[in-house]
Amino acid sequence: MSIAVGILNDYDSIREDQEALYRDLHAHPELSHHEMRTAGEVAQRLTEWGFEVHTGIGGTGVVGILRNGDGATVLMRADMDALPITEATGVEYASTVDAVMHACGHDVHVACLLGAARLLAAHQDSWQGTLVALFQPAEETGDGARGMLDDGLAGIIPKPDVALGQHVLPGPAGTVLTRPGPVLSSADSVRITVFGRGGHGSMPQKTVDPVVLAALIVVRLQTVVSREIAPTEPAVLTVGSIRAGSRSNIIPDDAVLELNLRTYTDATRAHMLEAIERIARGESQASGSPKEPTIEVHDSFPLTENDHAATTRVALAFTEHFGDRALPMELQTASEDFSDVPRALGAPYTYWSIGGTDPDAWAEAERRGTVFSDIPANHSPLFLPVMQPTLATGTAALVVAAGAWLGLEKNR
Ligand code: ZN
Ligand code: ZN
Repeated sequence: MSIAVGILNDYDSIREDQEALYRDLHAHPELSHHEMRTAGEVAQRLTEWGFEVHTGIGGTGVVGILRNGDGATVLMRADMDALPITEATGVEYASTVDAVMHACGHDVHVACLLGAARLLAAHQDSWQGTLVALFQPAEETGDGARGMLDDGLAGIIPKPDVALGQHVLPGPAGTVLTRPGPVLSSADSVRITVFGRGGHGSMPQKTVDPVVLAALIVVRLQTVVSREIAPTEPAVLTVGSIRAGSRSNIIPDDAVLELNLRTYTDATRAHMLEAIERIARGESQASGSPKEPTIEVHDSFPLTENDHAATTRVALAFTEHFGDRALPMELQTASEDFSDVPRALGAPYTYWSIGGTDPDAWAEAERRGTVFSDIPANHSPLFLPVMQPTLATGTAALVVAAGAWLGLEKNR
């Protein structure tokens, strides 16, 4: 039996505490950059278990360091923030905070990382190296990881040999899914403001109509993915918002379009941003616009591109531990700022997912072909991972993955 499994035999001793903490976190969600209470709960426990604890990094970020002799340094990361959503699950530990909800499962991530940290701290005779447990604020706004880096994270923690992260997603609870290479898309939001010349709706000849101009840009943007990107290359370009004017008989002065794009290579991202700018400028010119459009890129998330060697190492350890519950992960169109930290520290990283759906409900939805309509996904007011085996699986995944660097092979 491997050491990781030996440690996990002790899971039952922490299970009740972990479930209580998870219910407490779920009932007290906090928005991005406001994770004060959560950070306090985390820091207090890490201190109790013997970690060197640093708080207030990039606002509410917390890091726990446990040095346990020579060996690799493994960074494990959980995000802590919730979303501005009103919970509709009706569960007895539902959010007690008005219009705030743990609808992305970050409460699961915190509980699992604390569970893994506790087990590893209690069994230091079973492994060697340094553990860095990183609790990150503000993943949903995409700037929490960068905030920790800007606040001097690199000077606080030892350089990791690998960084590990996980996310709970729809899928049978008990499963763990890995994927080498690109796994989550990069994301960018783009705000385009185009300019016309306003006037009376009855005298269009005296105006340059920015509504028509914006409409033509929306249509032309549909050709970016369909005509300019290879069919084998996944990419998404959505116009999520278009705003102009106030009433039917006034031609307004300007129009604002809000775009969101998702890409899986830096080259595709650069090409799409260039195409968006070209189309906005070209259509403005074709319309006789009196002024160049303004184009702002904001809320950018990096590409999450798993290191091949690190992912293979984790996948092998998962297969050994979880058997047929270790599965390949599909390419996701969601985005994350997890990779900001390892990229800045020059460390390889891998990011996997765990299922959070009741396995029977999942099997039934699959049988009926209604997975997309029946299984609430992240950011839904109905998203609620089943507590078990989700927590046990997420905790085990972190211990098993970290174990692949912390002397597990030597200590069978
Ligand atoms: Zn989310
Ligand atoms: Zn999330």
